[in-house]
Amino acid sequence: MDYDMPLYRPPSEAYSLILQATLGCSHNRCMFCGMYKMKQFRVRKHEDFEKDALECARLAPQTTRIFLADGDAMAIRTERILKILKLLYDNFPKLERVTSYANPSNLLIKSMDDLRAIRAAGMDILYLGVESGNDEVLARVDKGATRAEILDAGRKALDAGFPVSVTVLLGLGGREMSEAHIADTASLCSEMNPTYVSALTLMLGPFEEYFCKSMGPDFALPDKAGVLREVRGLVENLNTTDCVFRTNHASNYLPLKGVLSSDRDKLLGVIDRALENPERYLRPEFLRAL
Ligand code: SF4
Repeated sequence: MDYDMPLYRPPSEAYSLILQATLGCSHNRCMFCGMYKMKQFRVRKHEDFEKDALECARLAPQTTRIFLADGDAMAIRTERILKILKLLYDNFPKLERVTSYANPSNLLIKSMDDLRAIRAAGMDILYLGVESGNDEVLARVDKGATRAEILDAGRKALDAGFPVSVTVLLGLGGREMSEAHIADTASLCSEMNPTYVSALTLMLGPFEEYFCKSMGPDFALPDKAGVLREVRGLVENLNTTDCVFRTNHASNYLPLKGVLSSDRDKLLGVIDRALENPERYLRPEFLRAL
Protein backbone atom coordinates (compact mmCIF):
# COMPACT_ATOMS: atom_id res chain seq x y z
CA MET A 1 0.00 0.00 0.00
CA ASP A 2 1.31 3.44 -0.90
CA TYR A 3 0.27 6.38 1.24
CA ASP A 4 -0.47 9.71 -0.38
CA MET A 5 1.89 11.82 1.71
CA PRO A 6 1.94 13.78 3.94
CA LEU A 7 0.03 11.79 6.50
CA TYR A 8 -1.21 13.07 9.87
CA ARG A 9 -2.92 11.56 12.89
CA PRO A 10 -3.65 12.70 16.45
CA PRO A 11 -0.99 11.78 19.07
CA SER A 12 -3.33 9.26 20.69
CA GLU A 13 -3.55 7.33 17.39
CA ALA A 14 0.20 6.60 17.43
CA TYR A 15 -0.41 2.84 17.50
CA SER A 16 -3.34 2.79 15.08
CA LEU A 17 -3.28 1.56 11.53
CA ILE A 18 -3.89 4.56 9.28
CA LEU A 19 -6.04 4.11 6.19
CA GLN A 20 -6.76 7.00 3.83
CA ALA A 21 -10.48 7.23 3.03
CA THR A 22 -10.12 10.82 1.82
CA LEU A 23 -7.16 12.86 0.62
CA GLY A 24 -6.66 16.37 1.97
CA CYS A 25 -9.12 18.50 3.92
CA SER A 26 -12.60 19.53 2.77
CA HIS A 27 -12.07 23.04 4.20
CA ASN A 28 -8.30 23.49 3.74
CA ARG A 29 -8.37 27.25 4.39
CA CYS A 30 -7.31 27.68 8.01
CA MET A 31 -4.45 30.15 7.91
CA PHE A 32 -2.42 28.46 10.63
CA CYS A 33 -2.57 25.00 9.03
CA GLY A 34 -0.30 23.77 6.28
CA MET A 35 -1.13 20.08 6.67
CA TYR A 36 -2.95 19.52 3.41
CA LYS A 37 -2.32 22.68 1.41
CA MET A 38 -0.57 20.66 -1.32
CA LYS A 39 -3.56 18.31 -1.76
CA GLN A 40 -6.88 18.89 -3.48
CA PHE A 41 -9.60 17.35 -1.32
CA ARG A 42 -11.23 14.22 -2.66
CA VAL A 43 -12.92 11.09 -1.40
CA ARG A 44 -10.96 8.06 -2.55
CA LYS A 45 -12.72 5.50 -4.74
CA HIS A 46 -14.13 2.73 -2.61
CA GLU A 47 -12.28 0.09 -4.70
CA ASP A 48 -8.93 1.77 -3.93
CA PHE A 49 -9.71 2.03 -0.23
CA GLU A 50 -10.91 -1.58 -0.18
CA LYS A 51 -7.71 -2.81 -1.84
CA ASP A 52 -5.59 -1.08 0.83
CA ALA A 53 -7.81 -2.29 3.66
CA LEU A 54 -7.76 -5.92 2.51
CA GLU A 55 -3.99 -5.88 2.01
CA CYS A 56 -3.54 -4.57 5.58
CA ALA A 57 -6.04 -7.11 6.93
CA ARG A 58 -3.93 -9.86 5.38
CA LEU A 59 -0.62 -8.44 6.68
CA ALA A 60 -1.82 -7.20 10.09
CA PRO A 61 -4.86 -9.25 11.17
CA GLN A 62 -4.18 -8.37 14.84
CA THR A 63 -5.01 -4.70 14.24
CA THR A 64 -7.26 -3.35 16.98
CA ARG A 65 -7.40 0.34 16.04
CA ILE A 66 -7.79 2.12 12.71
CA PHE A 67 -7.61 5.86 12.10
CA LEU A 68 -9.34 7.03 8.94
CA ALA A 69 -7.26 9.75 7.28
CA ASP A 70 -6.88 12.34 5.79
CA GLY A 71 -8.45 15.52 7.06
CA ASP A 72 -12.06 14.58 7.48
CA ALA A 73 -13.57 11.20 6.75
CA MET A 74 -16.89 12.53 8.08
CA ALA A 75 -17.14 14.52 4.83
CA ILE A 76 -17.95 11.24 3.07
CA ARG A 77 -21.59 10.36 2.35
CA THR A 78 -23.15 8.43 5.21
CA GLU A 79 -23.89 5.29 3.11
CA ARG A 80 -20.25 5.12 2.07
CA ILE A 81 -18.99 5.58 5.66
CA LEU A 82 -21.24 2.69 6.72
CA LYS A 83 -19.82 0.59 3.86
CA ILE A 84 -16.25 1.44 4.96
CA LEU A 85 -16.97 0.55 8.59
CA LYS A 86 -18.57 -2.77 7.61
CA LEU A 87 -15.61 -3.61 5.40
CA LEU A 88 -13.19 -2.91 8.26
CA TYR A 89 -15.07 -4.76 11.00
CA ASP A 90 -15.70 -7.73 8.65
CA ASN A 91 -12.04 -8.09 7.73
CA PHE A 92 -10.12 -7.15 10.89
CA PRO A 93 -11.30 -9.77 13.43
CA LYS A 94 -9.73 -7.98 16.44
CA LEU A 95 -10.83 -4.47 15.49
CA GLU A 96 -12.00 -2.47 18.53
CA ARG A 97 -12.33 1.04 17.19
CA VAL A 98 -12.25 3.26 14.11
CA THR A 99 -11.65 6.99 14.56
CA SER A 100 -11.45 10.09 12.39
CA TYR A 101 -10.96 13.84 12.33
CA ALA A 102 -14.23 15.75 12.00
CA ASN A 103 -14.80 19.29 10.90
CA PRO A 104 -17.79 21.24 12.26
CA SER A 105 -19.59 21.83 8.95
CA ASN A 106 -19.49 18.14 8.01
CA LEU A 107 -21.00 17.19 11.36
CA LEU A 108 -23.70 19.84 11.06
CA ILE A 109 -24.72 18.76 7.57
CA LYS A 110 -25.38 15.17 8.67
CA SER A 111 -28.73 14.35 10.24
CA MET A 112 -28.90 13.01 13.78
CA ASP A 113 -30.05 9.65 12.34
CA ASP A 114 -26.96 9.57 10.09
CA LEU A 115 -24.63 10.28 13.00
CA ARG A 116 -26.30 7.65 15.18
CA ALA A 117 -26.04 5.08 12.37
CA ILE A 118 -22.32 5.83 11.90
CA ARG A 119 -21.72 5.54 15.63
CA ALA A 120 -23.67 2.26 15.80
CA ALA A 121 -21.61 0.90 12.90
CA GLY A 122 -18.43 1.32 14.94
CA MET A 123 -17.03 4.81 14.41
CA ASP A 124 -15.56 5.78 17.77
CA ILE A 125 -13.70 8.96 18.77
CA LEU A 126 -14.17 12.03 16.57
CA TYR A 127 -11.32 14.56 16.73
CA LEU A 128 -12.91 17.99 16.36
CA GLY A 129 -10.75 21.06 15.72
CA VAL A 130 -12.18 23.85 17.89
CA GLU A 131 -9.01 25.99 17.85
CA SER A 132 -10.67 28.94 19.64
CA GLY A 133 -13.98 29.87 21.24
CA ASN A 134 -13.56 33.50 20.19
CA ASP A 135 -15.44 34.52 17.05
CA GLU A 136 -12.97 37.24 16.12
CA VAL A 137 -10.06 34.80 16.27
CA LEU A 138 -12.00 32.16 14.32
CA ALA A 139 -12.90 34.64 11.57
CA ARG A 140 -9.38 36.04 11.39
CA VAL A 141 -7.84 32.59 10.79
CA ASP A 142 -10.65 31.56 8.38
CA LYS A 143 -11.70 28.54 10.44
CA GLY A 144 -14.88 28.29 8.39
CA ALA A 145 -17.15 27.98 11.43
CA THR A 146 -18.37 30.28 14.18
CA ARG A 147 -18.26 29.55 17.90
CA ALA A 148 -21.98 28.72 17.82
CA GLU A 149 -21.54 26.31 14.89
CA ILE A 150 -18.58 24.58 16.55
CA LEU A 151 -20.56 24.23 19.77
CA ASP A 152 -23.57 22.81 17.89
CA ALA A 153 -21.36 20.37 15.97
CA GLY A 154 -19.64 19.10 19.12
CA ARG A 155 -22.91 18.77 21.05
CA LYS A 156 -24.54 16.99 18.14
CA ALA A 157 -21.73 14.41 17.93
CA LEU A 158 -21.82 13.89 21.71
CA ASP A 159 -25.62 13.53 21.67
CA ALA A 160 -25.26 10.94 18.90
CA GLY A 161 -23.05 8.93 21.26
CA PHE A 162 -19.55 9.71 19.98
CA PRO A 163 -16.66 10.30 22.33
CA VAL A 164 -15.42 13.71 21.15
CA SER A 165 -11.85 14.91 21.46
CA VAL A 166 -11.48 18.63 20.80
CA THR A 167 -8.25 20.41 19.98
CA VAL A 168 -7.62 24.02 20.95
CA LEU A 169 -4.71 26.08 19.71
CA LEU A 170 -2.58 28.01 22.20
CA GLY A 171 -1.24 31.30 20.89
CA LEU A 172 -3.85 31.66 18.13
CA GLY A 173 -5.11 35.01 19.42
CA GLY A 174 -1.61 36.47 19.62
CA ARG A 175 -0.54 38.49 22.66
CA GLU A 176 -3.24 41.09 22.26
CA MET A 177 -6.17 38.68 22.30
CA SER A 178 -4.60 36.02 24.50
CA GLU A 179 -6.95 36.54 27.45
CA ALA A 180 -10.12 36.71 25.32
CA HIS A 181 -9.03 33.69 23.27
CA ILE A 182 -8.50 31.56 26.37
CA ALA A 183 -11.56 32.80 28.29
CA ASP A 184 -13.84 32.13 25.30
CA THR A 185 -12.18 28.80 24.48
CA ALA A 186 -12.61 27.64 28.08
CA SER A 187 -16.26 28.72 28.09
CA LEU A 188 -16.98 27.04 24.74
CA CYS A 189 -15.39 23.76 25.85
CA SER A 190 -17.22 23.97 29.19
CA GLU A 191 -20.55 24.36 27.38
CA MET A 192 -19.76 21.53 24.98
CA ASN A 193 -18.40 19.25 27.73
CA PRO A 194 -16.42 16.95 25.39
CA THR A 195 -14.70 13.71 26.36
CA TYR A 196 -11.18 15.08 25.85
CA VAL A 197 -9.68 18.55 25.46
CA SER A 198 -6.24 18.63 23.87
CA ALA A 199 -4.22 21.82 23.67
CA LEU A 200 -1.66 22.28 20.90
CA THR A 201 0.74 25.20 20.63
CA LEU A 202 0.77 27.19 17.40
CA MET A 203 3.89 26.33 15.36
CA LEU A 204 4.29 28.02 12.01
CA GLY A 205 7.91 27.43 11.03
CA PRO A 206 8.83 29.38 7.89
CA PHE A 207 5.27 30.74 7.58
CA GLU A 208 5.38 32.60 10.91
CA GLU A 209 6.19 35.99 9.41
CA TYR A 210 3.48 35.67 6.73
CA PHE A 211 0.91 34.51 9.29
CA CYS A 212 1.68 37.33 11.74
CA LYS A 213 1.47 39.96 9.00
CA SER A 214 -1.86 38.52 7.82
CA MET A 215 -3.27 38.81 11.35
CA GLY A 216 -2.65 42.58 11.48
CA PRO A 217 0.15 45.09 12.07
CA ASP A 218 0.24 44.66 15.87
CA PHE A 219 -0.02 40.88 15.95
CA ALA A 220 2.72 39.04 17.85
CA LEU A 221 2.82 35.45 19.10
CA PRO A 222 2.98 34.92 22.86
CA ASP A 223 6.34 33.84 24.28
CA LYS A 224 6.83 30.59 26.25
CA ALA A 225 5.56 32.14 29.48
CA GLY A 226 2.56 33.57 27.64
CA VAL A 227 1.73 30.15 26.22
CA LEU A 228 2.03 28.60 29.64
CA ARG A 229 -0.27 31.23 31.12
CA GLU A 230 -2.79 30.27 28.41
CA VAL A 231 -2.57 26.60 29.50
CA ARG A 232 -3.08 27.76 33.08
CA GLY A 233 -6.11 29.80 32.07
CA LEU A 234 -7.67 26.79 30.36
CA VAL A 235 -7.03 24.40 33.26
CA GLU A 236 -8.37 26.94 35.74
CA ASN A 237 -11.53 27.83 33.81
CA LEU A 238 -12.63 24.63 32.08
CA ASN A 239 -15.78 23.53 33.83
CA THR A 240 -16.39 20.02 32.51
CA THR A 241 -17.51 16.61 33.76
CA ASP A 242 -14.98 13.75 33.59
CA CYS A 243 -13.17 15.47 30.71
CA VAL A 244 -9.53 14.48 30.21
CA PHE A 245 -7.26 17.46 29.55
CA ARG A 246 -3.97 16.81 27.81
CA THR A 247 -1.09 18.62 26.18
CA ASN A 248 0.56 15.50 24.78
CA HIS A 249 1.11 16.97 21.30
CA ALA A 250 4.77 17.49 20.42
CA SER A 251 4.19 21.20 19.76
CA ASN A 252 3.71 21.88 23.49
CA TYR A 253 6.34 23.06 25.97
CA LEU A 254 4.89 21.14 28.92
CA PRO A 255 3.22 17.72 28.59
CA LEU A 256 0.25 17.38 30.95
CA LYS A 257 -2.58 14.91 31.39
CA GLY A 258 -5.35 14.77 33.96
CA VAL A 259 -9.08 14.60 34.59
CA LEU A 260 -10.08 18.19 35.21
CA SER A 261 -12.72 17.47 37.83
CA SER A 262 -10.24 15.62 40.06
CA ASP A 263 -6.71 16.64 38.97
CA ARG A 264 -7.11 20.40 38.48
CA ASP A 265 -5.02 21.45 41.53
CA LYS A 266 -2.26 18.99 40.65
CA LEU A 267 -2.12 20.28 37.06
CA LEU A 268 -2.08 23.90 38.23
CA GLY A 269 0.77 23.06 40.61
CA VAL A 270 2.85 21.60 37.77
CA ILE A 271 2.16 24.65 35.58
CA ASP A 272 3.09 27.06 38.39
CA ARG A 273 6.36 25.23 39.04
CA ALA A 274 7.13 25.42 35.31
CA LEU A 275 6.35 29.15 35.27
CA GLU A 276 8.77 29.66 38.18
CA ASN A 277 11.51 27.50 36.70
CA PRO A 278 10.99 27.23 32.91
CA GLU A 279 14.53 26.02 32.16
CA ARG A 280 13.98 22.96 34.30
CA TYR A 281 10.48 21.99 33.23
CA LEU A 282 9.84 23.16 29.69
CA ARG A 283 10.67 21.26 26.51
CA PRO A 284 13.51 23.09 24.72
CA GLU A 285 12.55 24.78 21.45
CA PHE A 286 14.60 22.36 19.34
CA LEU A 287 12.73 19.35 20.76
CA ARG A 288 9.27 20.66 19.92
CA ALA A 289 7.45 18.80 17.13
CA LEU A 290 9.83 15.85 17.33
S1 SF4 B 1 -10.04 22.12 9.02
FE1 SF4 B 1 -8.27 21.19 10.10
S2 SF4 B 1 -7.07 20.14 8.50
FE2 SF4 B 1 -8.49 21.55 7.45
S3 SF4 B 1 -7.30 23.42 7.13
FE3 SF4 B 1 -8.41 23.68 9.07
S4 SF4 B 1 -7.02 22.93 10.68
FE4 SF4 B 1 -6.22 22.19 8.67
